[in-house]
Amino acid sequence: MLEMKSVCETCAKPIAQDSTAFICSYECTFCAPCADKTHRLTCPNCKGELTQRPKREAA
Ligand SMILES: [Zn+2]
Ligand SMILES: [Zn+2]
Repeated sequence: MLEMKSVCETCAKPIAQDSTAFICSYECTFCAPCADKTHRLTCPNCKGELTQRPKREAA
């Protein structure tokens, strides 16, 4: 199962599991503003593509 990281690796802001987050194939995790505006949908760690993480309903 995909590990659901809960903080943005760029700004360290918490990301709620039911809010929009972006991940790369290595599961680097970023909030939407950082992924979109700061990184332009390219992972700064591995240069991979950032895609929107599927949301998970709270248990
Ligand atoms: Zn962020
Ligand atoms: Zn990455």
